Amino acid sequence: MLPLAAMTWEEARDAGGPGSVAVLPVGAIEAHGPHLPLETDVIIAQAMARAGAVRLIARGTSAVVLPPLTYTAAAFAQGFAGTLSLRPETVTATVLDIAGGLRRHAFGVLAIANAHLDPGHLASLDAAVSAIRRDGGMAVAFPNLASKPWALRLSDEFRSGACHAGQFETSIVMAERPELVHDASRAALPPNPASLSRAIRNGKRSFEEAGGDRAYFGFPAQATAEEGRATIEVLGAILDEAVQAELAARAGQAK
Ligand SMILES: [Zn+2]
Repeated sequence: MLPLAAMTWEEARDAGGPGSVAVLPVGAIEAHGPHLPLETDVIIAQAMARAGAVRLIARGTSAVVLPPLTYTAAAFAQGFAGTLSLRPETVTATVLDIAGGLRRHAFGVLAIANAHLDPGHLASLDAAVSAIRRDGGMAVAFPNLASKPWALRLSDEFRSGACHAGQFETSIVMAERPELVHDASRAALPPNPASLSRAIRNGKRSFEEAGGDRAYFGFPAQATAEEGRATIEVLGAILDEAVQAELAARAGQAK
């Protein structure tokens, strides 16, 4: 499976066409505890994109993985060094411009493999997805992991809302990029069961306000590479199913 950025233009031309899928991994450059790299969500999104594309290709669907969107809105982590947060409108405009380029070159579906759950970021993606749908030129699949039905497929820790740099995310980085995990500090971290999603609903606006004064939530000491590998497969299946649902809906409309 050749990523788009490694293709020649002629290979990219041949990868397009009706029903072809371009998968955009979307992460962030954002603090992830004392044990994980700033690019954690980029690593997770790329793993999800790859696992989803493998499933799509196995079904006979043409799928390519795009270079990741690494910068995005990350207001909750802004107080922590290294976090680089864009304005939400910049994110929306960037995704719309990427979609415009894909549509021009005849890709049929934009599939967003998103691993970053900051509310301003999710709103910026929702705005882009709505605009692409209004425009009607291409289909778009965006399974929001924080909402049903997808969240039900993920771990108890994830669904509790203690889902930033905890067991869920740490496991995936251990599976994908073990050399980037500060493992001694990870293994010694005390649990932080504070729920980020509940804090967001209650109007909190930063990790510090939400009870994450070292930019992690959940149970990173319990993370394993084995859990990470299993989670990546679930994320790939979610992306695949979201694309299938989108393609089926388009086929229904066309009749
Ligand atoms: Zn994350």
